[in-house]
Amino acid sequence: MAASTPRAELVIDLAAFRRNVAVLAGLADRTGAATMAVVKADGYGHGAVDMARAALTAGATWLGACSLAEALVLREAGITARVLSWLDLPGEDFAAGVAADVDISVASPRMLRTVAEAARAVGGRARIHLKIDTGLSRNGCQPADWPALVAEAADTPDVQVVAIWSHLACADEIGHPSISLQAERFDLAYRQALAAGLRPLRHLANSAALITRPDLHFDLVRTGIATYGLNPVHVPLDLKPVMTFRAGVALTKRLPAGESVSYGLTWTTPRDTTIALVTAGYADGVPRSLSGRMEVLVAGRLLPVVGRVCMDQIMVDCGDLDVREGAEVVLFGPGDRGEPTARDWADKTGTIDYEIVTGMHRPRLRRTYVGVPELVET
Ligand SMILES: *Cc1c(COP(=O)(O)O)cnc(C)c1O
Repeated sequence: MAASTPRAELVIDLAAFRRNVAVLAGLADRTGAATMAVVKADGYGHGAVDMARAALTAGATWLGACSLAEALVLREAGITARVLSWLDLPGEDFAAGVAADVDISVASPRMLRTVAEAARAVGGRARIHLKIDTGLSRNGCQPADWPALVAEAADTPDVQVVAIWSHLACADEIGHPSISLQAERFDLAYRQALAAGLRPLRHLANSAALITRPDLHFDLVRTGIATYGLNPVHVPLDLKPVMTFRAGVALTKRLPAGESVSYGLTWTTPRDTTIALVTAGYADGVPRSLSGRMEVLVAGRLLPVVGRVCMDQIMVDCGDLDVREGAEVVLFGPGDRGEPTARDWADKTGTIDYEIVTGMHRPRLRRTYVGVPELVET
């Protein structure tokens, strides 16, 4: 790394991402379903625009965003593929969304009217996806209110009902009885939509259901986590983690036995040893709760982080290894060089890998894209 060693950096492997998307789109394709690449939360921390572009070259034809603001970022980048926005407050600028050709999720009559009004304001027709709550009890229309919602949507000329959709609560628990129950409720909702005169597409599956429930692919699958190479189910699939978190050694020092290290002096050298100061801390996404419980890859060796994780730095016990200042330090990555993975961090901190990678969206972290066919601006 030498002179170009970044302080702390995310390396995003676009080749791995494209391969993952191709694998997943291939699974969807077997059942005739299209693939939506979910790039919410800045592409799960990987960079929404770059991931969106790469996904579209690898077989995805739709993009999923949490909010209109996220969808409009994709439009502003010149991306013209279908984009669905699914969680917006009533006061959002839906007119801007309609004008930008963003598909908008609707879960209530109030929302339907707001979006219809926005469509009228821009002299367009809003493309909407009606969301039914089939049991997650999060977003979506309650089944009891659904017939009225589909009837009103069918009677609203300012909207085109593109799809009905829902989201699964336990897709990552293979065989969980709620999956089939949700599928049954989804089927009823579909028949009610047909009865109201609608002819919508259907989508229900996230990554886990895409991988494990081909019977629930319907017309479109929404895959997020798996495209980033993190498999949500214990089903072997050729996916590779896309994100590597690395930093560098700023300073090395020899400490005698009996010296203590970092705030609180919680760790004491058991022997003479070399300590490497590494330029990533909790401000860069290293969980402070991993103090004394994590290892990093330095010069091809897994070495323990000792003492407390600080805001800007961590200390690594290198023993008698010859670690040079400026050396690369891998905090997590795909694991193929022996480094920890985002899943390892999640397991140790009591969370899921989704939260680890998404939490790496940080202003101080440089993102470098590799595996780029032609150079992508970052
Ligand atoms: C985030 C999200 C997805 C993608 O889920 P993964 O488990 O990451 O594949 C799909 N649908 C909805 C509604 C979501 O919020």
